[in-house]
Formats: sequence, C-alpha cells, structure tokens
Amino acid sequence: MNAPREAIAWFPVIDPDLCNSCSSCYDFCPKDVFAPAAVEEGLRHRPKMTVANPYNCIVLCSACMKVCAADAISFPPRADFEQYVEYLD
Ligand code: SF4
Ligand code: SF4
Repeated sequence: MNAPREAIAWFPVIDPDLCNSCSSCYDFCPKDVFAPAAVEEGLRHRPKMTVANPYNCIVLCSACMKVCAADAISFPPRADFEQYVEYLD
C-alpha cells in the first residue's frame, strides 16, 4: 500500500437491521475485524456484531461478504481504492 492504513477507509459496514448475530463473519475473518457488541442488561437475543477494528481489514479484501447469509455486510466501491495498492511484477 502506498498510504498509511488509517488513511484508507476500506472496511466492512454491517447493517444492524439485517445482522442476525450468527457470528459467521467473526469466525471467518483472520484479522479480528469483528467483535460482538457488549451484552446489555435484559437483552433477549445475542448482541449484534460490530466492526471493532476496521483498520485491521485487508485493503480490497471482501471475503466476509460471502459468508454473511443475511447480506448484512457491505463495502465501498472497489474502484475508489485501487489507487492505494501497488501491484508487484
Ligand atoms: S455474518 Fe452477517 S449476520 Fe452473521 S454476525 Fe456477521 S454481519 Fe451479522
Ligand atoms: S474483508 Fe477480509 S480482512 Fe476485511 S473484515 Fe472481511 S474477511 Fe476480514
């Protein structure tokens, strides 16, 4: 990459209305990007998943989208981020 990671806003966004707290993304991501929200007193279902470490996400990876059966994970347009990656021959 040709810029500091924190300058590159590539990371997943979870739609909380679609997330069913299945934890598939949490189990799948090798970079610890996801974490369940804190358990609230009186909560009657598992806490929603959150993007706890967004800048751990690998720029232009979007593999976790495929493991989310609820289609709750999205990313910004890839074309906007190609400029940050230098490909080696
Ligand atoms: S895989 Fe999708 S539905 Fe499951 S916890 Fe992650 S965002 Fe929520
Ligand atoms: S895109 Fe890749 S690195 Fe980023 S959160 Fe998803 S699985 Fe993890």
